[in-house]
Amino acid sequence: MDKIPSFEKDHDAMQPGLHFSTLQKGVMTLDLRFKKPNAGDYVSPAALHSVEHMLATALRNGPQREHVLYFGPMGCRTGFYLLSEGISYRAAFEAVRAALAACADMDEVPGSHRSECGNYQEHDLAGAKSECAAYLALLDALPEEELAAEEEKARRAEEEK
Ligand SMILES: [Zn+2]
Repeated sequence: MDKIPSFEKDHDAMQPGLHFSTLQKGVMTLDLRFKKPNAGDYVSPAALHSVEHMLATALRNGPQREHVLYFGPMGCRTGFYLLSEGISYRAAFEAVRAALAACADMDEVPGSHRSECGNYQEHDLAGAKSECAAYLALLDALPEEELAAEEEKARRAEEEK
């Protein structure tokens, strides 16, 4: 079997951040890496599940809602994927920042009633808020050069398609 692109990255060299992953068929995949891979610190399953509900809701109600195609967790519990269409890396970055800030104001996990969710008892609002706050602080501390480098990767992918 062919390896998929995300397995070809050296995960041991990967740092937390908001990484451009791929541009395929006009769909940009971003890697929202909350945790350093294989470093012993993972988002708990309940917090991961709640962050999925909360950020998906915030992104789909945010300024770029029409461009958001999918948001979901990585099985390794070190981050999430955001799929978008028709917006730049920088616009997606700002949409993620706004969504993370919106999560701080939530007093319940959206869609966490039994009829709305496949595992409604496995949620952790406080844990999810704490992961979102930590990730927002991480994004705010990223050096401008790193954002410019990710932006450049997205721009090159756009040219090559
Ligand atoms: Zn659910």
